[in-house]
Amino acid sequence: METTERRVLVVEDERAIADAVAARLRAEGFLVQVVGDGPSAVETARNTHPDVIVLDVMLPGFDGLEVCRRIQAERPVPILMLTARGDETDLLVGLAVGADDYMAKPFSMRELAARVHALLRRADKAATVTTAPRPDTTTIRLGDLEINQAERRVLRGGVEAHLTPTEFDLLVHLAGRPRTVLPRERLLAEVWGWADASGTRTVDSHIKGLRRKLGADLIRTVHGVGYALEVDR
Ligand code: CA
Repeated sequence: METTERRVLVVEDERAIADAVAARLRAEGFLVQVVGDGPSAVETARNTHPDVIVLDVMLPGFDGLEVCRRIQAERPVPILMLTARGDETDLLVGLAVGADDYMAKPFSMRELAARVHALLRRADKAATVTTAPRPDTTTIRLGDLEINQAERRVLRGGVEAHLTPTEFDLLVHLAGRPRTVLPRERLLAEVWGWADASGTRTVDSHIKGLRRKLGADLIRTVHGVGYALEVDR
């Protein structure tokens, strides 16, 4: 199915980690570039248009959060962020500035490769939705919520909300079964393509983003289970 090599930009100043990540991704058939500081990351992303970026938070120059902010403002690209274990602040800020997924160090190379593949599958699916006139390009209308799948635009009460690609996909999943509780593990599997439930905090953080942009009343939390979209037909 893949006819051209996919490009991955690895941004990491720790040489041993950068080399190991690059070696594993090359073994998976990716074209890999490695840079070691914030300014080079932004410059390289601008010039080479990678399909995915693996981005460490702690970098010389400016940090990975700033890199993420600048890159997503120029040309959105799926970003897998690498954070220090237990650093909740980096994680939450990272997701807020447009990272799609994250992994805490230390991580296994197998898991890293799986997540890069999952990000690419999602990006390909999103591209299909925006370019091909398929049934799922319809506009979903639920109460005062309007989701235009062809243009990937969302309005609530006539006001447009600017969602990240991940937030949009998550909202579409919730809107597909309104007033139905969807378990976090299921959302993680369907939206992120990731079967391991260890990333459910990622779901929580993106739900927070949706509530901030679309109104806190839109999504109900069912503690210990998951989330439901609460909107009138
Ligand atoms: Ca680093």
